Amino acid sequence: MTSRYVGRFAPSPTGELHFGSLVAAVASYADAKSRNGSWLLRIDDIDQPRSVGGSSDSIIATLKAFGFQWDGPIRWQSEREHHYQTAIANLRNQSLAYPCRCSRRQIEKTARRGVEGLVYPGTCREWNGAGAEQVAIRMLTKNVQITATDRITGDIAQNLEADIGDFIIFRADGITAYQLAVVVDDFLDNVTHVVRGADLVLSTPRQIYLQNRLNYPIPQYAHVPLVRDAEGAKVSKRDDAHPIDQGEPLSALQAAWQFLKQPPMPEPIENLERFWTHAAKTWRIEALRDTDTQCSAEKIA
Ligand code: GLU
Repeated sequence: MTSRYVGRFAPSPTGELHFGSLVAAVASYADAKSRNGSWLLRIDDIDQPRSVGGSSDSIIATLKAFGFQWDGPIRWQSEREHHYQTAIANLRNQSLAYPCRCSRRQIEKTARRGVEGLVYPGTCREWNGAGAEQVAIRMLTKNVQITATDRITGDIAQNLEADIGDFIIFRADGITAYQLAVVVDDFLDNVTHVVRGADLVLSTPRQIYLQNRLNYPIPQYAHVPLVRDAEGAKVSKRDDAHPIDQGEPLSALQAAWQFLKQPPMPEPIENLERFWTHAAKTWRIEALRDTDTQCSAEKIA
């Protein structure tokens, strides 16, 4: 891959593509195409218990029907387990990751709340893991500030030790955790630009920390506003309240375009090719800068 811009869309196969994921896909695709970049499709299927049978096929079919064209083969997290294990071994060799046998209930008893969930109190930091079979692996955090720059939301600074705590990179149920997998994937795919939903904005400092410790380059990040339902909850694949209509790709794309604060397209946009040509020419991520990333959907397709 020689392109200087490599973007990606990385849906988890937990249900049909809904309007919220379409918004993220449109933003990352338009951003890549506006820069003449490559755009990859990765299916984040590492978490098999959460995967919904048939949803990868249906997501792929919907993306095709909407005119998205990815470069190269589709990437599958489930085929990369050995890469994740190599990265975890690397971190353990640097004494930056350690086994943890605490149950959720034990942690709840002593931990305080941080910026995203409980801050693990470090109970197992000194434990050597002897005799344990099914244990989680945690990343050792430090008392230093990590700042993620974001093309939409501005800087996000966290002291990982105080705000997040030593976080899981491998789960006790034997599954590699999202934070570790995504960092390894973006490295393997030479991703230079990550454009995704704002629900992951608080994860970014953890990912930058892992990239630093694994000696990986740091992509540029941009987090697009979340689509929320009338009650203010994030529209998610699991509540398939808002699946998008495959029969009406142009109107769903136009709705996503409007949600992303891009100026209306000149009429008529009669086919997908024209939509995407125009999108690549006119996309401006800056239009999202002044919007509240928590804003709600004015229109849900
Ligand atoms: N697989 C994640 C999701 O569907 C996105 C991962 C990412 O873009 O970093 O929410």
